[in-house]
Amino acid sequence: MQAIRIGQFDIGKVADFAGPAFDPAEFFPDYDPEVVRANRDLIGPALLDPASGKLVFSFHSFVVRTGRHTILIDSCIGNDKERPARPQWHRMKTSYIDDLAGLGVRVEDVDYVMCTHLHWDHVGWNTRLADGKWVPTFPNARYVMARREVEHWQGVHDSGADTPHATAFGDSILPVIATGQALLVGDDYALDDGLWFEPYPGHTPGNVVIHARSGGERGIFVGDVLHHPLQCLKPEWSTRACSDPDGSRTSRTRFIEEYADSGALIMPAHFPDPTAGWIRRHRAAFRFDFRQ
Ligand SMILES: [Zn+2]
Repeated sequence: MQAIRIGQFDIGKVADFAGPAFDPAEFFPDYDPEVVRANRDLIGPALLDPASGKLVFSFHSFVVRTGRHTILIDSCIGNDKERPARPQWHRMKTSYIDDLAGLGVRVEDVDYVMCTHLHWDHVGWNTRLADGKWVPTFPNARYVMARREVEHWQGVHDSGADTPHATAFGDSILPVIATGQALLVGDDYALDDGLWFEPYPGHTPGNVVIHARSGGERGIFVGDVLHHPLQCLKPEWSTRACSDPDGSRTSRTRFIEEYADSGALIMPAHFPDPTAGWIRRHRAAFRFDFRQ
């Protein structure tokens, strides 16, 4: 992804993984291969891998430098995490921290980590393993999370659920609460330099998108309100990863209709390179135009 400017904001991306990830019919319960066949020009081999038949995903963070603050949006998968239910990402080792340094950001430079939601693949680098303990990766950061979302996953964790999300709450959220670095906020929280939350619940109960505005320009970190460009063609397709598929469908449709042809640059958490782009009206539905 080319560096992005939104007004004064400078935005980069650091990925933990990019490649074929999920079988479309498993991932989207309403999947219909005819939609791909009819839209070959929009859903090409970079988005649906012909060899494996899988949806191509990226798992990444965005790094926003506002001029005043350095902010990480979603902290991706993380190294060394116990994720036996996700073998592809179990005890992973990536060069994420070096890649962040390649963008000119050291771990101590990060002022805020803002999470769209608390699924395992959005919180992993909140912490790192040091002498057998999970400690905050970013020693000077406040970790900004919607209180509604934290309370939901605290409940799941406390119930003893054995899922990647519950495990991630233990190894990636509780340690930053323990050091006092967590900032639990309302789901309309605004950071003074032009970044703010807006609730779009459904994928998870406290799911938010993060708006960015600077110098009259708009961008939106949409998290998992959109997982794949196919959902612009089919906004009604929720995923098996959604807590509440009906709520997710409502939120996604509302988002797409609101921001199609709006000029706001959409930055999803899982679209492969070049990742960012615009939602545009297309025939009876919508399409995603990648920013090249
Ligand atoms: Zn995700």
